[in-house]
Amino acid sequence: MGEGHSREGWLAGLTLMAGGLLLTLAGLPGPAVWWGLSWSIINSLVLVTGNFLRNRREQFFFLGVNLLLVSNWQFTWNMPWDLYFPFLLLLPLLVPLYLGQKEVAVSGLAAGFFLAVYWYIKEEMPLSDRHLAFLGGLLAVIAFCFFTWLKTLAEALKVSFLQAEVAHWQREYKNSLTQLAAAELMAVTDDLTGLFNYRYFEQNLESMLSPQYQMRHLAILMIDIDYFKEINDSFGHMIGNQVLVELAGILKEHTREQDIVTRFGGEEFAIILPGTEYRGALQVAERIRQAIAGHSFNKEGAKEGAPVRLTVSTGIAVWPEDGLNKEELVARADLALYQAKTGGRNSVYSYQLLKDEGGVNEARL
Ligand code: GH3
Ligand code: MG
Ligand code: MG
Repeated sequence: MGEGHSREGWLAGLTLMAGGLLLTLAGLPGPAVWWGLSWSIINSLVLVTGNFLRNRREQFFFLGVNLLLVSNWQFTWNMPWDLYFPFLLLLPLLVPLYLGQKEVAVSGLAAGFFLAVYWYIKEEMPLSDRHLAFLGGLLAVIAFCFFTWLKTLAEALKVSFLQAEVAHWQREYKNSLTQLAAAELMAVTDDLTGLFNYRYFEQNLESMLSPQYQMRHLAILMIDIDYFKEINDSFGHMIGNQVLVELAGILKEHTREQDIVTRFGGEEFAIILPGTEYRGALQVAERIRQAIAGHSFNKEGAKEGAPVRLTVSTGIAVWPEDGLNKEELVARADLALYQAKTGGRNSVYSYQLLKDEGGVNEARL
């Protein structure tokens, strides 16, 4: 069953037909009977088959047919005023059609008004069969208004139910997006320090070196804490962890927003410096080295003794000079880091320097 054939639509049409018939019976014998019959049949058919007229053109056609019927009757039979009444009843029913089928209540009110006018004109008449028929017609028109209103109400309820459904699923969708984003962030975050992890470092370095990123310069720093094992041995693993967290904070503090600071693993950190050349990378690494060497690490809960001091060794590799891909860059920064370690630790070394000094042993790569 299509939209135009709902139960309320049928009820509305049938009650209107009954109303038309009763109003016809209430009229005078003769042409009024035929007019009333045509009126009720045409209008009922229109309403029952289409339920309501679907567009402006159909509405005008509907109105036109009715006007034709009335004018034909008026001019041919010279109808007296009170026999216009059935037509007047029809007019308010056209209101909802022009107002997009929503204002059925208005049509009911207007029908009531016209009926009252009619009642006033006819008030001297005794209560007769004609009045009873007329009352039936009135009831039918009211029932029509009620059923069409019911239909509108049912549709409005359906719409509000669907809207609630849509809102519900929109919320669900948003929640799952948030959860997904949180899970994705968790997958690339280091639990202990809150820095990004090795996976994030790899992903970002790879995408930044891809042609569509149009990066002009980039540097990476590989930072390893010197003699970190001794910190663990002297103060315990927990203090070791606290030191790692504090050191992560220093790294963040001495880098820019766009730099990617990651915990590469254990007590090793890797930093991507996008858009940074060799000289700039050297400055950042040196700044970090000094900041850490000069920092007194908090060893709350540790045994009494000297404050925890530590140093870091850093290896630098720059793109594109030192390597064209992720693997080359990391390997060369590692090589420079190894050199910083063997050179006495607490220092910064670059792959460039290693090359200049002829100390590169490619077999190590
Ligand atoms: P160097 O790098 O200067 O050669 O000496 P090191 O002592 O730092 O080097 P090594 O690689 O021998 O030791 C690293 C230590 O870091 C060993 C390991 O127990 C410790 N470590 C790694 N991950 C963690 C961690 O998450 N928490 C703590 N507390 N210690 C860690
Ligand atoms: Mg290490
Ligand atoms: Mg170390």
